[in-house]
Amino acid sequence: MTRYVYDFSEGSMEQKDLLGGKGANLAEMVRIGLPVPAGFTISTDACRAYLRTQQAPAELADEVSAHLARIEGQMGRRLGDADDPLLVSVRSGAKFSMPGMMETVLNIGLNDESVKGLAAQSGNPRFAWDSYRRLMQMFGKTVLDMDGDIFETRLEQMKAARGVEQDTELTAEDLESLTTKYRLAIQNATGRDFPQDPREQLDMAVLAVFRSWMGERAVLYRRQERIPHDLGTAVNVQAMVFGNLSEDSGTGVCFTRDPATGEKGVYGDYLMNAQGEDVVAGIRNTHPLHDLEADSPEAYKELRAAMDTLEHHYRDLCDIEFTIERGTLWMLQTRVGKRTAEAAFRIAGQLIDEGTITEQEALTRVTGAHLTALMFPRFDASAATAELTRGVAASPGAAVGAIVFDTADAQAKAAAGEDCILVRTETNPDDLGGMIAARGILTSRGGKTSHAAVVARGMGKTCVVGADSLVVDTENRTIAIRGEAGHFLNEGDVVSIDGGTGAVFEGAVPVVASPVVDYFEGRVQPESATDEIVRAVDRIMTIADRERRLKVRANADTPADAARAVRFGAEGIGLTRTEHMFLGERRQLVEHLILAETEEEREAALESLRPLQVQDFAEIFTAMGDRPVTVRLIDPPLHEFLPDYTHLAVKVAVAESEGHSSPADVKMLQAVTRLHESNPMFGLRGVRLGITTAGLFEMQIRAILEAFRVVRRAGAHGTVEIMVPLVDAVEELDLVREEAEAIAREFGEEPGAGKNVAIGTMMELPRACLTAGRIAQSADFFSFGTNDLTQTTWGFSRDDVEGSFFSAYLDKGVFGVSPFETIDVDGVGRLVELAVAEGRAAKPGLKTGVCGEHGGDPESVHFFHRAGLDYVSCSPFRVPVARLEAGRAAVMQG
Ligand code: ADP
Ligand code: MG
Ligand code: MG
Repeated sequence: MTRYVYDFSEGSMEQKDLLGGKGANLAEMVRIGLPVPAGFTISTDACRAYLRTQQAPAELADEVSAHLARIEGQMGRRLGDADDPLLVSVRSGAKFSMPGMMETVLNIGLNDESVKGLAAQSGNPRFAWDSYRRLMQMFGKTVLDMDGDIFETRLEQMKAARGVEQDTELTAEDLESLTTKYRLAIQNATGRDFPQDPREQLDMAVLAVFRSWMGERAVLYRRQERIPHDLGTAVNVQAMVFGNLSEDSGTGVCFTRDPATGEKGVYGDYLMNAQGEDVVAGIRNTHPLHDLEADSPEAYKELRAAMDTLEHHYRDLCDIEFTIERGTLWMLQTRVGKRTAEAAFRIAGQLIDEGTITEQEALTRVTGAHLTALMFPRFDASAATAELTRGVAASPGAAVGAIVFDTADAQAKAAAGEDCILVRTETNPDDLGGMIAARGILTSRGGKTSHAAVVARGMGKTCVVGADSLVVDTENRTIAIRGEAGHFLNEGDVVSIDGGTGAVFEGAVPVVASPVVDYFEGRVQPESATDEIVRAVDRIMTIADRERRLKVRANADTPADAARAVRFGAEGIGLTRTEHMFLGERRQLVEHLILAETEEEREAALESLRPLQVQDFAEIFTAMGDRPVTVRLIDPPLHEFLPDYTHLAVKVAVAESEGHSSPADVKMLQAVTRLHESNPMFGLRGVRLGITTAGLFEMQIRAILEAFRVVRRAGAHGTVEIMVPLVDAVEELDLVREEAEAIAREFGEEPGAGKNVAIGTMMELPRACLTAGRIAQSADFFSFGTNDLTQTTWGFSRDDVEGSFFSAYLDKGVFGVSPFETIDVDGVGRLVELAVAEGRAAKPGLKTGVCGEHGGDPESVHFFHRAGLDYVSCSPFRVPVARLEAGRAAVMQG
């Protein structure tokens, strides 16, 4: 029988699938002896059961009772007891932290009786009534789905009536009368009284957490972060500790290192006499953590020790939530903290230096996404632009855009293809859509741990928070600048924000390349780099290159691309497309070829194209030096090189009606009509074109070999791999191979695996994969064209589906991520695995690679490593990410 409830003392950090991240980490803190209030976790199994049946599993109630009794025993109090109540919090916690998704309910167990007991026990009626009104507020909003403003408004009215500014200035009587107002509001909104039975409160809160898993915002966030929808969330029930009990109580959050730079130090914020979210909600100005030393010396010392313990235990940067109750420290949460890309690389290096982790392990502390973020451009420091103001650097990058104040406007701008910056006093989960649509986020309040900062970092989006000289007036859509009377920014004005420094500029500031790109380009040497990040990246890349088994090549069609690919660390070219060699001014020559009526005309047309292509190939081979280059023979349908059918048909019709038609146009129209296809993607292209258009492949192969000979004579030792596109059947490949071998012999080459010249095929059709064993006999290598293979496996025409129904498919969860972005392991991936296995069975040691853009996608790279491919190939700019992820895959998978 499945068990659904686990005491904190039973779990560990390994159990995130079952206990969720928060529960597993709470259990771990208990395990290593840190002070954690007693509690238990209701597992994700229970949530999944609930999601299946819409009700809690039958056994759950009894299990909860048993575990509750255990806490009651430990604490010597009963839940909701009239004289001395145990209160608990109900906290959601899925495997992956989902900021702002499912809100915690504190103070469960208070009712009209136990509030008096709490007042008596604490000797602090104000505290008791404050806790009760907070319970009603959180319960109403989170569990009963009421509009949070209903409560906020009443609170504000109460403060106004009493002429006070802060919540803390309200008296016990004020708060008691506020609970009466809240109760009425709950009555009105839900038609029933606020539940007085503590257990009913608890059970309702637990079910609300389950339900919230499918809430709109949670679903949106999971889609963004590619978190599977079927994981479910766990629920943590934990004895309350009170940071709002007295002046020597408080609550706060901290990091073991600076999550923006990786610097070691004391980073955090706290508030005395405060509870729960007060710190991150920005209702009062928080204090920096080091001030706590004066406010609560004992707790501070203990906290610093706990921070050290946690960082050593997790061997990584941790973030921590704590509460101090009458001078005693309680740990309420920890996890491996989110960090900026720069911090990730620097921390990885620091942890090696400190002897905390090995070099291999350091690769697991960074990701390809981090590296991508570092390759974004930055603002030009030399551009003479005065800063408007400076806030807190929350998430790096340089963003320029027009000011918008809400989600609707941000989405409208994004839909119109315009860049915008979402400006708010603070963000909350309702702003998520706008945060996604905007180029950057700017808030006037909040610190590094505010909602905006946390969410933006998670999204990798540029963000500056706490720019407190900005007075954001959402209603009138203007921003006033404190201390600069008459200076306003209006909706639509352009601002530039630097998430790396916190700087905010008026107008558009020019951006420059990142130092990391300069490093990859070879313009900056790591030894002499002034930017520490360059050394940090170089160090990790060196480790990745040493560890990885996959080779990394680039897709490059031009000498410039090829040269950049080499600078970025490509070990060869995995795909040179030859299409562009038929375009531009050469289109004319292709037209001659297609319109040729005699053998002589055809040969003349090909003969005019050949020397141009020799030149193209020679330049690419030269750029690649001794490295292998894979050249794909012409792939697209010929009509792509001809005038548009409709256009031409109209032109000819008009000319004819006016009695002066041009014979050349008529002839061209006939050719275009002849070549017109309903589904060109599935029509006359690739190897089909090569087999049926006499001399076309031959011309290309001759040009390749001629260029190759020139470059080899000049002293290069590269190899060339001639790749035949769109092969379905081995017979197709045999025809081309026979022709190619004959030509190669004229050049004194004997093609084969491991030879100077190899002949292989693109694997991009399901039939090819399914018959890979036979195809391998005629192929010196396989290169998976995962873009076309995805199109043909799914039956998707990429150009048509991405813009039309893909967003609906993502919405409805048909897939969590586009199969064109990340390889579809179950379908397309399976074909790849099958083809590799059968290809290698037929021809041991068969070289296999990937030349679709998936070769630069982190998750896909891990799959290709697992599938045992020899190399991945992607666009030059993504080569560093592929190198890093290949290293990570080797370390993580072995
Ligand atoms: P989130 O997932 O949004 O971080 P948490 O479950 O951590 O939500 O809870 C929200 C706030 O309530 C945090 O500040 C947390 O420290 C506080 N909190 C949660 N449980 C307790 C408890 N048992 N006693 C005191 N404070 C609590
Ligand atoms: Mg928390
Ligand atoms: Mg293709």
